[in-house]
Amino acid sequence: HHHVDGATPEKVDEVIASGDFAPRIPDCEGFETYRGTGGYDTLLRLREGCDWEQVQETVLASGLRGLGGAGFPSGRKWGFVRANPGPRYLAVNGDEGEPGTFKDRHYLERTPHLMLEGMLIAAWAVEAETCFIYLRDEYPAVRAILKREIAALEDAGIVDPGYIDLRRGAGAYICGEESAMIESIEGKRGIPRHRPPYVAQEGIFGRPTLVHNIETLHWVARVCREGPEILSSVERNGRKGLRSYSVSGRVARPAVYLLPAGSTIRDVIDAAGGMAEGHVLKAYQPGGPSSGLLPAALDDVPLDFDTLQPHGSFIGSAAVVVLSDQDSAKAAALNMLKFFETESCGQCTPCRAGCEKAVKLMQAESWDRELLEDLCTVMGDASICGLGQAVPNPIRLVMKHFKDEV
Ligand code: NAD
Ligand code: SF4
Repeated sequence: HHHVDGATPEKVDEVIASGDFAPRIPDCEGFETYRGTGGYDTLLRLREGCDWEQVQETVLASGLRGLGGAGFPSGRKWGFVRANPGPRYLAVNGDEGEPGTFKDRHYLERTPHLMLEGMLIAAWAVEAETCFIYLRDEYPAVRAILKREIAALEDAGIVDPGYIDLRRGAGAYICGEESAMIESIEGKRGIPRHRPPYVAQEGIFGRPTLVHNIETLHWVARVCREGPEILSSVERNGRKGLRSYSVSGRVARPAVYLLPAGSTIRDVIDAAGGMAEGHVLKAYQPGGPSSGLLPAALDDVPLDFDTLQPHGSFIGSAAVVVLSDQDSAKAAALNMLKFFETESCGQCTPCRAGCEKAVKLMQAESWDRELLEDLCTVMGDASICGLGQAVPNPIRLVMKHFKDEV
């Protein structure tokens, strides 16, 4: 982040565009190309008078689940939001901040209109007054793309000017938590709200709000256009659907890989060209630091929603980080905790004080397991939001699977 005195969003954009900080804008599918190949036909047909519940049925039939990481059935959210009287809002969560996650960026830099059409279909389904897109500020190229493509949508008369309101994050991980994001959109400090009420009931300015992740909306557009089978017909290891794994760490070709949802870590590593030369799989983070670390021995578990719970983990946003025999599980867990300590919003004591204490305990030569376990219980039980609640995962998993190191 470069600070600009008296910064207005326009001023910052000007400085960014002025040279030194200018982002490289990747070639992506622009409005003309997308529209020319049938893009927005689905949206325009729906707007002409379709039953939203039929579209909801299609989305439910595809099995699409929230790809920000929680895996909540996407179609069901529409019903929750519709159940509350308008005006209603839609917010796109583009604050992709989970360390190791870069799939939303991947899709926006290539096919931004799939997300935009999916967003407008969902907005149509819940009769949203305004669509807010909350984009993390670390993606200046994506912002430039979205600004340009939203302008093209306005010029083509597909949306009214101002209907899509592109907002900028400011570098806080916690603003990806949906209610903290909403506070931020409202112009306040981004801290999570208690729930209930869910944002489907009371979201932006107290109004019912539909919140979807970028990739979820990408798939809403594809499912509505190509049919629910594009997801529901894919099967592997008893799991259905597709996952976009963001793969990094000790693999030959770090990138985003779209694979069947039942893929194991071996399948994911194979897709990424195998392990990097000279490295042997030791452990992996299946879905961001909140999912902790799993040992190489658990290499036959499908990396999908629900399948990692029995192992004290979850797939989350499918941010797979591969560690090798040259890495320390203890150091990795400490790194995760330092991240949480920095990013804790500080609102509740178990998380604010707990992260700090955990870091201190984990810096010791050997860990005080009893004290750490005590801390994990308090943080898991008493933290307000998912950040504090998930902190026990890396700690407990490393104590369980990498005893010798700690
Ligand atoms: P959650 O399961 O509590 O909620 C998921 C969604 O379903 C929310 O939109 C919530 O409002 C809705 N919901 C759940 N129950 C509902 C109900 N009864 N009525 C109405 N709506 C309901 O999970 P969460 O705390 O929102 O998300 C946690 C996940 O976020 C973690 O799994 C983590 O992997 C992921 N995450 C992702 C990133 C990223 O960059 N993509 C960053 C941090 C965390
Ligand atoms: Fe903030 Fe942590 Fe509490 Fe979440 S758990 S509200 S991040 S202090």
